[in-house]
Amino acid sequence: MESEYTKERALGLLSAEGDALEDLYRHADMVRRNHMGEEVFIRGIVEFSNICLNDCLYCGIRASNRDVARYAIPPEEIVDIAHAMKGSEQTTVVLQSGETPGMADDKLGSVIRRIKGETGLAVTVSVGNRPYETYRFWKECGMDRYLLRFETSDRALFARLRPGSSLDERLRCLGHLKDLGVQTGSGFMIGLPGERPEVLADNIILCRSLDLDMIGIGPFIPHPGTPLRGTKNAYHDDPEMFFKALAVLRVFNPDAHIPATTAFDAVFPGSGRDLALKRGANVFMPNNTPVRYKKEYLLYPGKPSVDESPEECTEAAVARIESLGRIIGKGPGHSFKKRPGRGL
Ligand code: SAM
Repeated sequence: MESEYTKERALGLLSAEGDALEDLYRHADMVRRNHMGEEVFIRGIVEFSNICLNDCLYCGIRASNRDVARYAIPPEEIVDIAHAMKGSEQTTVVLQSGETPGMADDKLGSVIRRIKGETGLAVTVSVGNRPYETYRFWKECGMDRYLLRFETSDRALFARLRPGSSLDERLRCLGHLKDLGVQTGSGFMIGLPGERPEVLADNIILCRSLDLDMIGIGPFIPHPGTPLRGTKNAYHDDPEMFFKALAVLRVFNPDAHIPATTAFDAVFPGSGRDLALKRGANVFMPNNTPVRYKKEYLLYPGKPSVDESPEECTEAAVARIESLGRIIGKGPGHSFKKRPGRGL
């Protein structure tokens, strides 16, 4: 019943303390188990280019950050990385980059086509706002899923933090992806400067109303090479809020795939992603970017495992999942949602 999913309820849960907080975490874990099972899907991320023309105030690879050595991994090498993933526990390759084509749209299309044809892995793309026709072309090439966080549901905050773009434009892109039948993921950062719990509750409600297949959220972490260098996360005095947000997100979105994102480990080294898996998450995304590029894809400081190879990152992910008593997901881990026009 939709009346269960109100802003008031979200706010009430976000303010839980003590026994009520333990109840929230237990409930989120139960909702995850009942709707998504004990499987944790491992999706390998490849940060194939850090070239970006956007100047998002929060992001370490923003165009104005001159301290970043820009790279674009050649198409052949990306396909090789996907080949190396085949046969491991990773059944999806996630291709992510900055928001300006580090690679022309047609070249990315042929990379998608080759990965699908040669490895059979599921392909997720995350390269920002693009026209409908481009999304359609990539879908024809075999793209299964797309990740495009709306970042914040607060229109004014969005406009301030992402100069030259708007929340409505972002939401239009998400609409195009859904219309095309692409499994669609979105999400937000937790604790952007100026954010209040009301906005956090609105973010969670927006995820629900978008009826997303995947939802990725993680704490905002100020980067020293950005205009937000002097700011603090809005919940820096109360980092428990990061996990509360995740738990409420699960309660409000029972059948979405929710990753334990890397930013949780940046804030709680070595344990953040495990706690996220215990409080609602069911996906883990080990980094498959070769070490020589990885250090130049620093969205925020404290990125874990920058010196570890893709194989080491994947082995560590498997060990962490198994130590929690969970099962490694088999098969592509597509969305459970079945809707007209989605072809699922
Ligand atoms: N360019 C694509 C886009 O904008 O959708 C994909 C790459 S973008 C760098 C990936 C995500 O990193 C963003 O959606 C944002 O939520 C996150 N991010 C960027 N800077 C961050 C920061 N300082 N702290 C936490 N997350 C950050």
